[in-house]
Amino acid sequence: MKILTIIGARPQFIKASAFSREANKHDNIEEVIIHTGQHFDANMSDIFFEEMGIPKPKYNLNIHSLSHGAMTGRMLEEIETILIKEKPDWVLVYGDTNSTLAGALAATKLHVKLAHVEAGLRSHNTKMPEEINRILTDRISDLLFCPTETAVKNLEHENLKQNKIIRTGDIMYDSALYFKQFAKKPKANFNNNFILATLHRAENTDDKTKLESIVSAINSISAETQIVIPLHPRTKEKMKHFNLSFDKTVQSISPVGYLEMLWLLENCSMVMTDSGGLQKEAYFFQKACICMREETEWTELVEHNINQLTGSNYNKIHDAYQKFANGNNSFPKNLYGTGDTSALILNEIQKI
Ligand code: UDP
Repeated sequence: MKILTIIGARPQFIKASAFSREANKHDNIEEVIIHTGQHFDANMSDIFFEEMGIPKPKYNLNIHSLSHGAMTGRMLEEIETILIKEKPDWVLVYGDTNSTLAGALAATKLHVKLAHVEAGLRSHNTKMPEEINRILTDRISDLLFCPTETAVKNLEHENLKQNKIIRTGDIMYDSALYFKQFAKKPKANFNNNFILATLHRAENTDDKTKLESIVSAINSISAETQIVIPLHPRTKEKMKHFNLSFDKTVQSISPVGYLEMLWLLENCSMVMTDSGGLQKEAYFFQKACICMREETEWTELVEHNINQLTGSNYNKIHDAYQKFANGNNSFPKNLYGTGDTSALILNEIQKI
């Protein structure tokens, strides 16, 4: 059986590495990887392939730095050509990027079976490009692999019962469990007690008032507890553009590889982020998370009081910091399955 996997962005590399490791155990499975090139910065792409042992992509499309429409359109055209040539039995797409949607469209139009990993997530904010990508990909997938019960309910609510909806748990948990043994301390200097922060979502970085408010909150919290922030290139560029800067107490470092990220997660006291993936990883490592967004797809974390939504609001960010720093945070078990998601996915694909 030939499975064609489409990836292009950092979280997809992390998810796909778990599946590739599983597929590798089966002689009857041939996996062909397309890397669309959506993330092209070496720190956000090459390093993941090296340290996570992801098989070398057979195709590198090198499509990046374009508007959403242009990027998705060019990917669609190139992926279609490859699908016609490769004739896979299945196309596997991950998450919610433009690469996900382009791969999904190309496959469906050619009547190639399509599986969506991380199906059913909804922020219910259609202004997010990721939300559009998710909804459309789910609508046309043959197999919908859901990380949570909420994701299953979302799909049922959208009347997608005719498609096959399967709760598999979260594939990122497979990766975190496997790679944490290789966690690596980043070279930067920092204290024993630090908060890990990331910030990259367009809704925060592209709006001066919001970015200014978040940067001020980070600066002021860092006077009390050091903050380490591996800075996304987009955020760096926007901060320069809006003339914003971090105080000296903030350790702003280049984006790190996954193994360094796991070390930071393991050793930090708390996480503050607007990333989807990092909210879950905070939970995997039993760290409370200040979520600098207005809504999250990972609602179970909010329900269990270990994730607090603050948006870009300075006071709300501070309040969440105080609450988690002083509180006794307790973490329920197995919200995202038991770390065998890739095996479950491969098993389901082989049934059809
Ligand atoms: N990540 C990383 N290095 C960094 C920042 C993030 O390895 O410098 C990892 C992080 O641990 C998580 C994934 O990248 O697994 C999340 O990616 P991102 O925040 O870009 O995307 P999202 O999850 O919001 O789609």
